[in-house]
Amino acid sequence: MLFGGTGDLAIRKLYPAMFKLYQKGNIRDHFAVIGSSRYKVDDAKFREMVEKSVAKESSDKKLIANFASHFYFVTHDVTDLAHYAVLKSKIEELDKKYELQGNRVFYISMAPNFFGTVAKNIKNQNLLSSDGFNRLVIEKPFGRDFESASELNNELSAAFDENQIFRIDHYLGKEMIQNIEAIRFGNTIFEALWNNRYIDNVQVTLAEKLGVEERAGYYDNSGALRDMVQNHIMQIVSLLAMEQPVAFKDTDIRAEKVKALRSLRVYNVAEASSNFVRGQYAAMGNGKEYRQEDGVPKDSNTETFVAGKLMFDNYRWSGTPFYIRTGKKLADKFTRVDVVFKKPLVDIFAFPQSGSAPLTANVLTIFIEPNQGFSLTVNAKNSEQGFHTEPVSLKFLEDSKRTKETPQPYERLIHDVLKGDGTNFASWPEVASAWKFVDQIRRVWDIQQPIFPNYIPGSMGPVSADELLARDHREWVYKL
Ligand code: NAD
Repeated sequence: MLFGGTGDLAIRKLYPAMFKLYQKGNIRDHFAVIGSSRYKVDDAKFREMVEKSVAKESSDKKLIANFASHFYFVTHDVTDLAHYAVLKSKIEELDKKYELQGNRVFYISMAPNFFGTVAKNIKNQNLLSSDGFNRLVIEKPFGRDFESASELNNELSAAFDENQIFRIDHYLGKEMIQNIEAIRFGNTIFEALWNNRYIDNVQVTLAEKLGVEERAGYYDNSGALRDMVQNHIMQIVSLLAMEQPVAFKDTDIRAEKVKALRSLRVYNVAEASSNFVRGQYAAMGNGKEYRQEDGVPKDSNTETFVAGKLMFDNYRWSGTPFYIRTGKKLADKFTRVDVVFKKPLVDIFAFPQSGSAPLTANVLTIFIEPNQGFSLTVNAKNSEQGFHTEPVSLKFLEDSKRTKETPQPYERLIHDVLKGDGTNFASWPEVASAWKFVDQIRRVWDIQQPIFPNYIPGSMGPVSADELLARDHREWVYKL
């Protein structure tokens, strides 16, 4: 059951993802999708929409038509209780027709203010089955602070148990994000060193090249801290920081992520001011400054860039900072993690006559997108006369063909929902901890007047983002 079945996300991402699952045989005969929205669309028209949205995925018209034949449409206003009776009888009819054994997924791909209403009505209007599974999929954003997220969660949990709720964070569906666990827990050489004794600092960068484009209205109410840090960055950081789970399964992994997030230091006012910096992009060439974008108030203080330093107060990480940054209109579009190891305690090559450059820190870089892979820089002797060391890079990059064939996040995530695997979804305790951390930064920023705009498009953000690390005698591994 897909609420918001004629929306942008459904058309651009969800139907192509479902088609991929169909094409690969992960879903076959026993499935049906009921799309709903207020539009008056019949099944034939809806199937046409679905076919169009997946057309670029295959040239096999018969396969596409067979796939689309599983789609049905019900015109439905989610605020009108009478409409749920129509939905209910359609669900029951299709359950029989496709032998679904009462297994139901309710996907709410609508504006967040509807999440609570729909969840409540699904339960109260008896759309839940009693003989199969019932799962609820929720899109982002999950609240705009801890309080609103908490209210929303109460509404959802009145109808669904936590293990039935799948909160989408599409970053968790990315191949290389999932690979963080493989790299960490599948390799003695990394896991043995994965702590404050050997790691100097960790850097997470989610850079976007575009500005706000047509999302200005939404974005101006949100800003980079809420839009990127509270969810995607906190999830990545928790995967990097967590302890080894007992087993590679959702309950164990979630438990460790929650533990990590709970040991994240929640800043007081002074710490929040000094450990987080924000930015807003200026004009350049034909590009407008953020405050001149359509739909953005001329005096907007919304940040389009955030950089910050996170500290964990636990045995593994005490004293090792995690630096994060994200922003719009930066030099390029990419996501990467740089794990900077400590330099050897003694540099035996650096005696005065040697002429050898000092040893550099080993850096493990995890390339998340657009390239997928990782590299490790190590110090080695160069082949010239004398004894000089230089950093060399051991690099693995997935070839472009395999990168192209890698399942897209929504394909993986929908498949996980069908399997009932919550590993790559955000649990409520994780979301709550992340909001509590982010709310403190927001509180400080909301009472301070920033000097915006403060960074040039095509750069890596404001100077203050570099100063944040320089203050600790460090620098970003990726710099222009
Ligand atoms: P959209 O506005 O394009 O679609 C919303 C859908 O809800 C439409 O089908 C609309 O007809 C329907 N709808 C609105 N009011 C209704 C009502 N009262 N009763 C029944 N149906 C109603 O939104 P979208 O861009 O598809 O986003 C859906 C969700 O996904 C949002 O939570 C959004 O934050 C999230 N999301 C979207 C994207 C994206 O790329 N579009 C990316 C990430 C997250």
